[in-house]
Amino acid sequence: MPIPHIDVKAQYAPLIPELEAAFSRTLETGRFVFGPEVEAFEREAAEYLGVRHTVGVANGTDAIVVVLDAMEIGTGDEVICPAFTFYATAEAIARRGATPVFADIDPATLNLDRGDVERRITSRTKAIMPVHLFGRPAPVDELRELGVPIIEDAAQAFGSPGIATSIASTFSFYPSKNLFALGDGGLIALNDDELLERVKMLRFHGSRAKKDFFHIGYNSRLDAVQASMLRIFLRKLDEWTQLRREAAARYAELLADVVDVPVDEPGHVYHMYAVRSPERDRLAAALDEAEIGHASFYTTPLHLQPALRYLGYVEGDLPETERAARENLCLPLWAGINEQQQEEVASVLKRASELVAS
Ligand SMILES: *Cc1c(COP(=O)(O)O)cnc(C)c1O
Repeated sequence: MPIPHIDVKAQYAPLIPELEAAFSRTLETGRFVFGPEVEAFEREAAEYLGVRHTVGVANGTDAIVVVLDAMEIGTGDEVICPAFTFYATAEAIARRGATPVFADIDPATLNLDRGDVERRITSRTKAIMPVHLFGRPAPVDELRELGVPIIEDAAQAFGSPGIATSIASTFSFYPSKNLFALGDGGLIALNDDELLERVKMLRFHGSRAKKDFFHIGYNSRLDAVQASMLRIFLRKLDEWTQLRREAAARYAELLADVVDVPVDEPGHVYHMYAVRSPERDRLAAALDEAEIGHASFYTTPLHLQPALRYLGYVEGDLPETERAARENLCLPLWAGINEQQQEEVASVLKRASELVAS
């Protein structure tokens, strides 16, 4: 049997009756934009995250753009972020007219390297935007010591305890994420009332009541239908996270002598199970042959992307980022992958790595 890289349906299938009931409820109310489901989800998400407020938006990319706009970060400003992340992190910064400044990563965690971030701070640096990559918490406390406001791109880490402790944190509910919608969705978590007011206005054309418009804003809303699904999934999230962590522990045991496995830590929610190997491409080919899904992410890191050439980076500028781009291999993982499937993945990798070695 083929094994997919991610099986989103396996996660929500047992919940289909509940999802259908929620959909019916929304059909009854006839309110599809904002309304009680969105407000309830925003409240429940805030409680879960331990923040004062959350604001639903259309997707995780908008969440970043709206936060930067609300913080008045734009032309002439610099924001330090990793280049080993999804394009949207830097795109959102550039979309605001600000300059993404790329810092290298710590090879052990794949998250921002504090020392390299520090070297890149200038008088124009308005924020640092760490990404909790693949579900591993970035070193936010260390970065905070640098005295620059922090915005967490937490798109890959909903469910990790101890995140969302900064001025603002952003989330995506794209279907592959740990907490997901059945389509697009995003969220901004924050504590500051003034920032809340601006974020709320910006997501709705810079207006409170559609009569007076105070800012050049956005139309970026979370749908009521998606919010109703998210409320159901949020109640399952801790159980799902536990299943991901158990699967990760099993992989670590099976693969310890085969590839570089990620070092565990309690807050790691394993959005991806990313191993590393200099023989990545050959291992990936063996998985293909066995019909086992896999992914290698950010194989062209952001500082080398065509759209961001204008920033002037060249190959060799971010050595650990570039090495991670060549070496990362993300194995099948979702909440509910079974032991047998993981053993099959491990045995294919073991055989392939023995062939490489001989
Ligand atoms: C998924 C993701 C985003 C973008 O989220 P969308 O909802 O797809 O717009 C941003 N940053 C990171 C790190 C992501 O993984």
